[in-house]
Amino acid sequence: MAENQSDVNGSPKTYDEHVPEIKFTKLFINGEFVDSVKGRTFETIDPRNGEVTARVAEGDKEDVDLAVKAARQAFDHGPWPRMPGYQRGRIMSKFADLIEENIDELAALDTIDAGKLFSMGKAVDIPHAATCLRYYAGAADKIHGEVLKMSRELHGYTLLEPVGVVGHIIPWNFPTTMFFMKVAPAMAAGCTMVVKPAEQTPLSALFYAHLAKKAGVPDGVINVVTGFGSTAGAAITSHMDVDMVCFTGSTEVGRIVMQTAATSNLKQVSLELGGKSPVMIFDDADLDTATDLALMGIVHNKGEVCVAGSRVYVQEGIYEEFEKKLFTKAKAWPVGDPFDPKVQQGPQVDKKQFEKILSYIEHGKREGAILLTGGERLGTKGYYIQPTIFTNVKEDNVIVKDEIFGPVMSLMKFKTVEEAIKRANGTRYGLAAGIVTKNIDVANTVSRSIRAGVIWINCYFAFDNDCPYGGYKTSGFGRDFGLEALHKYLNVKSVVTPLYNSPWL
Ligand code: NAD
Repeated sequence: MAENQSDVNGSPKTYDEHVPEIKFTKLFINGEFVDSVKGRTFETIDPRNGEVTARVAEGDKEDVDLAVKAARQAFDHGPWPRMPGYQRGRIMSKFADLIEENIDELAALDTIDAGKLFSMGKAVDIPHAATCLRYYAGAADKIHGEVLKMSRELHGYTLLEPVGVVGHIIPWNFPTTMFFMKVAPAMAAGCTMVVKPAEQTPLSALFYAHLAKKAGVPDGVINVVTGFGSTAGAAITSHMDVDMVCFTGSTEVGRIVMQTAATSNLKQVSLELGGKSPVMIFDDADLDTATDLALMGIVHNKGEVCVAGSRVYVQEGIYEEFEKKLFTKAKAWPVGDPFDPKVQQGPQVDKKQFEKILSYIEHGKREGAILLTGGERLGTKGYYIQPTIFTNVKEDNVIVKDEIFGPVMSLMKFKTVEEAIKRANGTRYGLAAGIVTKNIDVANTVSRSIRAGVIWINCYFAFDNDCPYGGYKTSGFGRDFGLEALHKYLNVKSVVTPLYNSPWL
C-alpha cells in the first residue's frame, strides 16, 4: 500500500517473487548441518500473512551439549584462538565479502521471518553486518596488554586472552544486527561460540553459519542451535562448559539468565535488556525535524526496538503545534507489506507480540489516555498495527511505564529543563534518550543528567560500529559495539617476574 493505510491488505500483490528458497533449516554444529538429536522441528511463520514459511530443527539440551563440546574442542585445541589475529581478521573479512554477495537473499529472509522492511535490510541491516565484521577484523591483530608500572623491583605486564566458549542468546527484532554485534567481536577476540537465534527468526542465522564455513572459519568456532528459550536457551545458560553468556532480550529473561549463570559455573554475563526511552523536545527545536525524529523513534522497525523513543516530552511553548504536525505525519505513515518499496512499516513479528501490543492499547484507553491517532490493527491478515499516539497520559500509567515494543507513543508536555530531566529519569530502564534543541547548554546539561547508556542529540538511532551501546539500571550491563565489546570477550591475565637479583618478598 502506502498512501492509504487502510489498503494494507487490499492490494492483490503478494510480492512472492521476493520470497527466497529456504536452504538451511538444520542445526549447525561442528561445521555441519544436522538434525536435532530428537528429530524435532518447529514452524517459522511469515508475519505478513501468518502462514508457515518453513520447519526448522528444534534444538534442545542434548543438541546444546554437542554444540558446546564442538566449541570447547575448537577453543582448547583448535587453530582459531591460536592463529595470529591478522589471520582471523582475513577470514572475517572474507566472511564480510560473502555477506555482501548475498544481500538480497539475506534481507528477504529477515523480512519473511521478522517482518522487517526489505529495503531497510538491503540498505542497512545486511551491509552493516559486513562492516561490523570488518571493523572487528581490523581490531583482531591489535589486541595487546600493558606493561605495568610496578611499585617494586618487579617486571609486570598483562595479557589479554579470549574468555573461551561464549553462548550468544539473541532476540528477534534485528536478527542480523544482533547476530553480528555479538559474534563479530567474539570472533576477533579468538572465542568460540554457540549462538541461539530467537525462535521467531532462525533463518538468517543458519545462512550466516553456512557463509562462515565458506569463508574458512574453522569447524566448531561458530555453532548455531535453533530452538526455544526455555529449552535450548536455558541449556546454554546453565552449561558448565560455557565460559560466558551474552544475552539480548527482555529484562525478565535477563534475570533468569543471571540467576542461572550464578548457580551453575559462575560464567560471565552480559545483558542487553529492555527500555522505555524518553525523547525530550525543547521550545527552540525545529518543528519539522523534531516531529520527524519523534515519529521515526517510535515507528522504525514497527516499534520493535529496545531503544524506541516511546515517551515523548515536548516543551509547552511548541506543544500544540508539535501535536498537530505529528498527527498529520503519523496519519500518512505508510504501513503495509515490507517488500513494498513505498512502505515504511511492516507487520509485528508474530501473533503473540501483535496481541500484546493491542492489549496495551486497550489498557491505555481504560486508563483514560486519549488516542490522538491509531490504536487499531490494519487489514485482516498478518500482524499490522497503525502508528499509535496517546495523549493525556500520566507518568504512572502502565503504557508509560512498561516497554510495549510496538508502534505506541505516549506524548506528554513539560515546562522546564529540570522537569524534563526528572520525568525522563523516572523509569526503571536506562537504555537510550533523545534530546532535540539548538541550545548547547541545555543539550549538555540534559545529556549528563540522564541515566542511560546512549544519548542522541538532534538525531535518533545513530548507531555505529565504533559507538558502544548498552544499558543502565534494569536495561542491563555490558556493552555491544565499539572496542568495549571486543574487551568484553577478553580476560586480563597479569604476569609478574622479579628483576635480576632483586628481592621479591
Ligand atoms: P525474550 O527475552 O523472550 O527472548 C530473547 C531470547 O532469549 C530469545 O532467543 C529466547 O529464545 C531466549 N530465551 C527465552 N527464555 C529463555 C530462558 N529461560 N533462558 C535462556 N534464553 C531464553 O525477548 P524477546 O521477546 O525475544 O525480545 C523482546 C525483548 O528484548 C524486549 O524486551 C526488548 O527490549 C529486548 N531487546 C533488547 C535489546 C537491547 O539491545 N537491549 C535489543 C533487542 C531486544
